[in-house]
Amino acid sequence: MNYALVDGRKIAARPGLKGQCPVCGSEVSTKCGEIRVWHWAHTRRRACDPWWENETPWHRAWKDAFPVDWQEIVHRAETDEKHVADIKTERGWVIEFQHSHLAAGERGAREDFYERMVWVVDGRRRKRDWTQFERAIKEGSRYLERPAVWLVWIDESALLKEWAESRVHVFFDFGFTDLHCMLPGSADGRAAIMIASKEDFIESHIRGTYDFSCRADFKRSKTIDPLYQAYGFQRYLARKACSRARSRF
Ligand SMILES: [Zn+2]
Repeated sequence: MNYALVDGRKIAARPGLKGQCPVCGSEVSTKCGEIRVWHWAHTRRRACDPWWENETPWHRAWKDAFPVDWQEIVHRAETDEKHVADIKTERGWVIEFQHSHLAAGERGAREDFYERMVWVVDGRRRKRDWTQFERAIKEGSRYLERPAVWLVWIDESALLKEWAESRVHVFFDFGFTDLHCMLPGSADGRAAIMIASKEDFIESHIRGTYDFSCRADFKRSKTIDPLYQAYGFQRYLARKACSRARSRF
């Protein structure tokens, strides 16, 4: 964690501080070495939030693109289960930055817990990921011009296979100015990938205009195909398959 409570105030990690864990309330102290990013850690070993992953500079850079007040927010479910959301926006969107591999069951549990959430996935953890992903796009078909959306074969890429079942937006960050967003609702072995600039993504959350219901509401691209909106991805593909079948006879 970058933040803990010191005398009730949210304070970033710097050398020599002691504070209180915002999740479990026990004592934390700062670790400010040269290898890992400066962070707060429990003074005594403790099972606190099992979902918390060790932060990389990639995590920290993403979180710092948002206001401090939105970073590392304790989210509590009705069952009293508590977890720290990387970002929780004023409009209640949780943004989780995922660097390491996440098992499908774990991913689903987090989507259930946070409900209104999106993933940003580090696409540079494995070298082959961009190579495979780029090939999937090249071999996919262009579905929309604006916003740019491709239909790609999930089997082409390990990353796509790992995230295909997600019920929410998954933004892959390959280190470019654009993010590649997998829209929810893959079907028929294919997924829809939308290109969205990193800047628009951040700004739409900061301005509070990010809107899941229309699936692609960035300032450059107000609409995604009405057919897609009306029917959803799976039904869209089913209709396409039907019309293909009809045209054969
Ligand atoms: Zn704790």
